[in-house]
Amino acid sequence: MKFITLAQTFDRFEQLSGNALRSAVAAFLKSIPSSDIKSVVYLTQGSIASEFDDVNLGMAAKSAMAAIASASSEDEHQIVLLAKKVGDIGTVAEKYATARSGLLSVKDVFDGLHRISVTSGTGSQEKKASQLMQLLKKCTPLEARYLARLVVGALRLGLASKTILDGLANAYATKDTKKELEHAYNICPDIGLIAETVAKKGITAVRKIDVMVGRPVQMMLCQRVSELPDVFNRLGSQVAAEQKYDGERVQVHKQGTKVTLYSRRLENITTQFPDIVLSAQKLKAQSCIFEGEIMAVKGDELLPFQTLMSRRRKHGVDEMTKSIPVRLFAFELIYLNGKSLLHSAYTLRYSKLQTIIKGSTGIALARRVVCSDTDCIEELFESVVGKGGEGVVIKSLQPDSTYQAGVRGWHWIKWKPEYSEGMQDTFDLVVIGAYWGRGRRAGSYGGLLCAVYDKKKDRFESVCKVGSGFSDDDLQMFPKVLKKANARLNNVVVLKNMEPDVWIVPNTVIEVLAAEITKSPFHTAGGGLALRFPRYIRIRNDKTPQQATTSDELKRMATR
Ligand code: AMP
Repeated sequence: MKFITLAQTFDRFEQLSGNALRSAVAAFLKSIPSSDIKSVVYLTQGSIASEFDDVNLGMAAKSAMAAIASASSEDEHQIVLLAKKVGDIGTVAEKYATARSGLLSVKDVFDGLHRISVTSGTGSQEKKASQLMQLLKKCTPLEARYLARLVVGALRLGLASKTILDGLANAYATKDTKKELEHAYNICPDIGLIAETVAKKGITAVRKIDVMVGRPVQMMLCQRVSELPDVFNRLGSQVAAEQKYDGERVQVHKQGTKVTLYSRRLENITTQFPDIVLSAQKLKAQSCIFEGEIMAVKGDELLPFQTLMSRRRKHGVDEMTKSIPVRLFAFELIYLNGKSLLHSAYTLRYSKLQTIIKGSTGIALARRVVCSDTDCIEELFESVVGKGGEGVVIKSLQPDSTYQAGVRGWHWIKWKPEYSEGMQDTFDLVVIGAYWGRGRRAGSYGGLLCAVYDKKKDRFESVCKVGSGFSDDDLQMFPKVLKKANARLNNVVVLKNMEPDVWIVPNTVIEVLAAEITKSPFHTAGGGLALRFPRYIRIRNDKTPQQATTSDELKRMATR
């Protein structure tokens, strides 16, 4: 496929939304030669690899501008000025591109981007700039627009993996197989590989995709109830209740002595926790995939989430390992010695987990009791919350209690103090816009426009403006962390009178405490629901926007 065809398609996608966009995506996916489909799908996601592969395309904007200058023999200063003015490197590259016809293939661009991403070490920014310059010289204006955005990590078509999966179902299979594609993606979150498999070998090959060590599985999530006795209606007469640790969820992949740690966002976080890697290497299993929550500890005391977050760094990890020791509290096993346990019952997975964790230092089992009444759960709950803990997770012991990859299902139910007080609830919301602050908040954002995620339509719907609960540190951090978008993205739904001063790329999740859910003519969540008295609690770097509170959850909570 020619790169100009892809650039023209991206241009068209940017002008479409809703059903028109979904149909265009399906038609386009069908038209791609199967030899190119993997690369093309990665490129639509602004990447050249799967989400969990440690590939960094983000070239410094300065080097990209240098490349544009040398490809067009223009003054670099002019280019920098224009980039500042328009705020989009793609527009700048487009203006200065000179090629008349598209000579590049998708493969040329994909390989070129790959070369740029692997160039490292001293002088690497210059080398990257020179490699980009070679490609830009062959670009027509439209191609240059998208190449420049891709290389600095700024291609945002708003085409989430869900939209691609829907498109693949329409293009290569039937509507009924949509669920199967989604299931395969939950087990193997490599959208390029799924696309290539269905395009080349059909849905039967997709059904065979299984868990693999070194490829993270989307993590299983919890439901919630408003009354504790409901737990038994949902899960049967006997359940397991576990401490809910407020740390970092991690999925540990072990193959012999090779250990890889994945975060809830499927990022490779192995280098941050050499101590956990060491403990995992010693476990009694040749190969396994298990999950737990990493907590910062001081002796037997569990320290707050914020303390653990100071371990999230690239440099000085060794000192941090000593000054902030951690422990991993394990609660799931999904693969052992060559066999997937996804479809086994939780009781079997847990007994195998017990065996491999036994005697380990640095890794312990999560605190757990088996309960047949609410008093038993409440006893654990009181003890956890009394020590500043987050609550409990109650788990099904039924024969059908399989591991539901990527699903917020009813096999796990969380119970937190907010629920028992019955007054307030926390929500994980996606920031989609911001309003400039005044007074003490001048120069930062005074309020954030937040959204819930509509899973079916794969879009973000506004639910409230949050303006309280920010510390001075939060106010300083927001402009650095929240990435501005030039305009409202296709997958963001906001009514005219709620439009923010600045659109934000819907990529950051924040936890918000709110008093109640009300009907609202101003918000689009769940067909017109809003949160009252929302208060910012903290940023949730560990959650993806697709893992935020959904419109369906909000609707369900509104009616209880
Ligand atoms: P939430 O993020 O509020 O939806 O709660 C679900 C999260 O609780 C999971 O993703 C885990 O990170 C965390 N968690 C803490 N302890 C446990 C546990 N014992 N079992 C399952 N999840 C737990």
